Amino acid sequence: MIKNTLKRFPTPAAIYRELNRYVIGQETAKRTLAVGAFEHLTEAVSGEKKGESIKKNILLIGPTGCGKTHLIKTLARILGLPYAIGDATTWTEEGYVGSNYDEVLWRLYLAADKDTEKAQTGIVFIDEIDKIASPGRADNSGDRDVGGAGVQRALLKALDGDIISVASNGSHTYRSRSIEMDTSGILFVLGGAFTGIENIIEKRTGKKNLGFTAPANPENSKPETLEATGDDLVSYGLIRELVGRIPVISPIHPLTKKHLIKILAGGKHSLLKEINQNSLHYELQFTFTRGALKAIANDAILKGTGARSLRGTINKIIEPYIYNHARTGHIIEKQIQISLKMVTTLLNSGNCYGESTIPSLRPIIPEASIL
Ligand code: ADP
Repeated sequence: MIKNTLKRFPTPAAIYRELNRYVIGQETAKRTLAVGAFEHLTEAVSGEKKGESIKKNILLIGPTGCGKTHLIKTLARILGLPYAIGDATTWTEEGYVGSNYDEVLWRLYLAADKDTEKAQTGIVFIDEIDKIASPGRADNSGDRDVGGAGVQRALLKALDGDIISVASNGSHTYRSRSIEMDTSGILFVLGGAFTGIENIIEKRTGKKNLGFTAPANPENSKPETLEATGDDLVSYGLIRELVGRIPVISPIHPLTKKHLIKILAGGKHSLLKEINQNSLHYELQFTFTRGALKAIANDAILKGTGARSLRGTINKIIEPYIYNHARTGHIIEKQIQISLKMVTTLLNSGNCYGESTIPSLRPIIPEASIL
C-alpha cells in the first residue's frame, strides 16, 4: 500500500497544491507534473492500466538550481513513491566500459526496499540529458559515440516501457547481480539546462531576447514563457527517436529576486526556518532584515546558479556568529539580527575569519545585534 501525505489518489489540483507548499514559482512545471503524477497514480500505481496507452515521459528544460530535482524529490515524497536520480553524463553505451543507464533503475529498486513491484511504480529523474546531445549526428542512427547518441538510443527501451535486465552496478559483469524490471509503470522525468537552445527557438520564431536560460534580471519578476518544440530538441542534438518518446515538455524558469527571497524566508518551509530549527539546539535564532535578504538574493543571481548557492551563503554568514555565540545549556535563546551591512561585509571578505587572524579565529565580522 502506498503511504503518502495526500489521499491515495489525489486530484491533480491537490498534488499541485501540495507541491506549491515546497516549490516556489515554476507554475507550469508544477501543473504539468501534477497531471503527469495523477495519470501515473491512476494507471501504474492502481494497477488499472487500460489498454496500450503511450508512456507520458516528461522533459523539464531550464537553468540549473531552479528546482528540477527539488520538484521531483518533493513529488515523490508527497506521493510516497520510491525515486532515483541519474546523471546522464556518467553513462556509456552498452558494450563500452563504464556505467550504463540501468544503474539508476538499480537504485530505484534499492529505494523501494528491493521490492521490484514497488520499484516498478516509482519515479526516475534523469538529469543532464542535454549533455548527451550530439549535434550534427543526431539523425544518423547508424552512428555510435560513447556518451552521446549511443546513450540516447540505449534509453529508448526503458522510456518505451519494456522488461530490462538491471545489473547491480550498472554494468553486466560476472560479479554483478541482476534483476528483471518492467519499466512500463515507471514515471520517467528527464531534465536539462539546454544552454543555448534559446538561439534555436529565436531562429524558429523570429522572437528575440527570450531570456530562457540566461540569469534572471534581478528586477524582473516575470520571465517570459518560452516553449521548446520537439524539432528544437532535435536541432540541439537529441535523436528524433528519443524526442518522440517525450510527449510532455515543460519549461523551468530562471528564479527571480522575489522567488529567491521567498525561498530564503517565505513561510513554513523556507531555508531560514530550517536553519533556525537547527540552531535551536544551541540556543541561537537568526533574523534577517529585508535589505540583508535582498543582498543574498542578488548575490545568488550574480552567481547564476539559481537557488543552489543560497544555503552556502547563509551558512557562511551565520558561521562566525555561531562560533562566537553558540552555547548549550542556556535557558534563554539569543536572537541575532543579520543586517545588510553584515551581509555585504561577509560576502566581500571571502574567508569570514580572515587569514591573518588564524589561529585565534577571531571572526572579522560586524557586531551583531543580539536581542
Ligand atoms: P536543478 O534545477 O539544477 O535540479 P535543484 O532542484 O537541485 O536544481 O535546486 C537546488 C536547491 O535549490 C534545491 O535543493 C532547493 O533547496 C532550492 N530550490 C531550487 N529551486 C527551488 C524552487 N523553485 N523552490 C524552492 N526551492 C528551490
